[in-house]
Amino acid sequence: MFEQAIKNYLQQHSYNTLCLKAVLFDMDGVLFDSMPSHAQSWHDTMERYGFNLPYEEAYMHEGRTGASTINIVSRRERGKDATEEEIQEIYKTKTIEFNKYPKAKRMPGAKEVLEKIKANGLFSMVVTGSGQTSLLERLNSNFPDIFKPEVMVTAFDVKHGKPHPEPYLMALQKGNLQPNEAIVIENAPLGVRAAVDAGIFTIAVNTGPLADEVLLNEGANLLFPSMQAFCDHWETIRKEIK
Ligand code: CA
Repeated sequence: MFEQAIKNYLQQHSYNTLCLKAVLFDMDGVLFDSMPSHAQSWHDTMERYGFNLPYEEAYMHEGRTGASTINIVSRRERGKDATEEEIQEIYKTKTIEFNKYPKAKRMPGAKEVLEKIKANGLFSMVVTGSGQTSLLERLNSNFPDIFKPEVMVTAFDVKHGKPHPEPYLMALQKGNLQPNEAIVIENAPLGVRAAVDAGIFTIAVNTGPLADEVLLNEGANLLFPSMQAFCDHWETIRKEIK
């Protein structure tokens, strides 16, 4: 299965090999089990402003900027974009709602696989649309000695959110990497799309309620049902890449 997926990727991009140097990790829903709280706070906040954003639909928008999500719902239900003031107020409320939840725990398997990757002499990077100020602190306390701030990509680094490939292209640039020198770990359809459009081999981990097909249809090269499953198969994947 892994061998065929790698062959297909190489053929599609006219590369001879995957020459792995780095693993690029999305954050929410990959490193942290934070998506249920995000989805619920989106749903509750939008309801308060008279909009309907079902819990599961929030997973379809994961990775978009807040403004873009709000406008999609506003256009659907009112036929027009939200005003700048509305966007700011709704997004602020959503953030307050989200912060009421306990801090998200590490996704099972995440720390273990990051340590394996480091022991293999490869480096890991975080590529997230999140703009939380305490992000680096949180990453370092949960995953000590893994991530370097100078090769992180956050909301502050890019103009376009996912599904635009900019976050992953920026990661390649910051990490001094060619597309075939990295792989991406993503849980969201729009994140998979961004990584695939950046030309990087993309592994989906389906940690949410969406069907596998939703992630595969965006072009994921491989799919695992959890971070633990990805962690358990890491050695095999790494050997296939070599
Ligand atoms: Ca995510």
